[in-house]
Amino acid sequence: PTEHLPSMPWFGMDIGGTLTKIVYFEPTDTSPDEEAEEVETLKNIRRYLTSNSAYGSTGHRDSHLQMNNVQICGRQGTLHYIRFPTCEMGNFLELAKSKGMATLASTICATGGGAYKFEEEFQREVNMQLHKFDELDSLLNGLHYIENNNSHELYYWEEPCDDRLCRKVPFDFSQPYPYLVVNIGSGVSILAVYGPDEYKRVSGTSLGGGTFLGLCCLLTGCSTFEEAIELAARGDHTRVDKLVRDIYGGDYGRFGLSGDTVASSFGHMHVLQRRKAVNRCDLARATLATITNNIGSIARLCAVNERIERVIFMGNFLRVNEISMKLLSFAMNFWSSGQMKALFLEHEGYFGAVGCLLELMK
Ligand code: ADP
Repeated sequence: PTEHLPSMPWFGMDIGGTLTKIVYFEPTDTSPDEEAEEVETLKNIRRYLTSNSAYGSTGHRDSHLQMNNVQICGRQGTLHYIRFPTCEMGNFLELAKSKGMATLASTICATGGGAYKFEEEFQREVNMQLHKFDELDSLLNGLHYIENNNSHELYYWEEPCDDRLCRKVPFDFSQPYPYLVVNIGSGVSILAVYGPDEYKRVSGTSLGGGTFLGLCCLLTGCSTFEEAIELAARGDHTRVDKLVRDIYGGDYGRFGLSGDTVASSFGHMHVLQRRKAVNRCDLARATLATITNNIGSIARLCAVNERIERVIFMGNFLRVNEISMKLLSFAMNFWSSGQMKALFLEHEGYFGAVGCLLELMK
């Protein structure tokens, strides 16, 4: 039954504005006959990918996300998740070439803007045909596949504002529709999903993960996302933002606004004394809060408009970023008076790439 399947290696690739995401299927049910026939290059690529977790100086395998014993088209295997910065594409192609990819003349399914931008380079450098798929279709296909194959994929934060009590709780998604997807990558796309093949892109904003990282680098001199998040974790945004209590002296009770609500993001920073009093951590924290809260408000407006209560946030902006997840959880719940729920996914930014891998099998 395997004759009609595409030849190995099986990859799905999402070439985004900031990060390239790769999903690699490692077969674990290879028969001795098949093993004997397998070309050396293919064996080497498998060994290289599965025995390392760093590739070159910028490629990473997220081994904590690895999924064992999955079935794809009747084959049993392991899904591996790999990422590298898209600006390193030249080095990636170089590496792929040195591993003999060109001799396999393989087809790879790709999505994201880079599938168009780099198409010729893939053909020229590694003799690879890119089959291009729409990124939003791939995202939703990938989401449903992973959600069905991983029982703890989808979760929400209980008690998001209490460091001691807060915890992740699995969310039952057996009745998924309708739901909203807020994909926070370099920019943000918001989709309303009504059924298996029924969705629309309802909104978006250019103030996304790329904006957070870019502004943070400018304001704090940091140079990586991880560093930006670490700075933010140690900062206090109330030294940067102007709060309702800074203006009212307390709550604005008539409209239910607590004194702790941000009235003006970065609103203290026009005063010299205030500027002298803030440190890099405060600036990183305020940048993170500003971008996150803005995305939260747009998401909530879209949800109200579409009459949808469950909002799934995804994209690599949420990687190692509990601060934003908890802020979104609180904000969605608070500003909707408990009507809406913010949901999150373990595989954060990989759904487009997974959706692409599945396309290869169709
Ligand atoms: P895209 O497809 O636009 O590249 P992603 O979903 O991959 O979008 O998210 C990119 C965003 O993720 C960045 O703008 C940044 O905020 C965040 N991010 C998380 N980890 C990293 C990282 N290692 N390098 C760069 N950005 C990262």
